[in-house]
Amino acid sequence: MILLEFGGTLAKLLLGRKIKFEQGKIIAFDLPFFLCSMETIKEMTRDALKKDIKALTDLYFYGWVYGFVVTKNIVNQLKLKKFEERYKVCMDIMSVLGFGDYQTLSFKRADHAKFKVIGNPFALQFYKNDNIFCYFVRGIESGGGCWVHETLMNNVEFECAAQNGQYCLHANLAPHRIAELGEEFIKKQFDLSYLIEKETKFMKDFGEDPAFFGIE
Ligand SMILES: [Zn+2]
Repeated sequence: MILLEFGGTLAKLLLGRKIKFEQGKIIAFDLPFFLCSMETIKEMTRDALKKDIKALTDLYFYGWVYGFVVTKNIVNQLKLKKFEERYKVCMDIMSVLGFGDYQTLSFKRADHAKFKVIGNPFALQFYKNDNIFCYFVRGIESGGGCWVHETLMNNVEFECAAQNGQYCLHANLAPHRIAELGEEFIKKQFDLSYLIEKETKFMKDFGEDPAFFGIE
């Protein structure tokens, strides 16, 4: 069943020419893409881990930019007007990116989306380890979440497949939900004020009004 759904999403994107492989270029949702080895993201993560939370926040932010620019086009091109529609389609597309299969536990617009990322091949490269590793992919998830929820979302990792060998437990959270988590927990996930400053600047540079996402 999962295989059929997965094949369905990928086939739809290819047949609908949302993803195109042409001579010398790959185009997805009207944006230029490239295929990247997990080994690259692994080395980027290892290097950032040797530095500090600012370096890890930068890595998260690069993923966030990916999620933000691509999901804007997904929502517009597929004319996803309703929240539930945006949520389902974007989660289906996340499951074909290569960072695991996405299974939702709960979600509420402009509040949260909590999900399991099953068999995440990126995190499994680090098994077995006590740390969390999914900075880059959490960025992708939350950058996309901004358009799905029409609110600034950021993502935290409660459990990582690097620890349990099976799945990561992630949540896209609106600012009021992140504030509930407590400083000790948050400071392992990102440097939040540094991150929001970068996200706000990117939105403006990209021609978006941060107020649309609830940023004053
Ligand atoms: Zn993880």
